[in-house]
Amino acid sequence: MVLCITSQMSLLQSKIKSRKEAKRLVSKDEVNELKADVADKYLGGKCFFCGAIKSKRGMTIHHRWYIKNDVVYHDYPKNHNGKMTYHKNLRKKVREKPSRFRYLCNTDHQSLERLLRYSEEKFEKLVKEVRATRKLRRKHQFD
Ligand SMILES: [Zn+2]
Repeated sequence: MVLCITSQMSLLQSKIKSRKEAKRLVSKDEVNELKADVADKYLGGKCFFCGAIKSKRGMTIHHRWYIKNDVVYHDYPKNHNGKMTYHKNLRKKVREKPSRFRYLCNTDHQSLERLLRYSEEKFEKLVKEVRATRKLRRKHQFD
């Protein structure tokens, strides 16, 4: 259901202290709606890892790899117009090659980006230790 900005604002103002706060939330909604629309059309509409369609911390369109003259979040102003322009430009890139992207909840996106910062060697040691610890905890759970 799409409400006009004015009715969204008055709905929100009944719950929210200030007009400024209501404006901020509506602006965020518009960005999220555009992002979700791209995700629904080209990226399955759910977090690749956990299946969430939305989350409290938000959703991200993750670049699996970059190309020349790519659309990159940091190149855009962090205001409403900057974010809308970023997602409109990104939509073109996603449409051209959806396999270059994943739709992720921000919790899983943060985990992925964290793991990507480890060297290959340290990453393998971490995965090995996670598996070993799980096995040991299963083995000793009734000790
Ligand atoms: Zn997730």
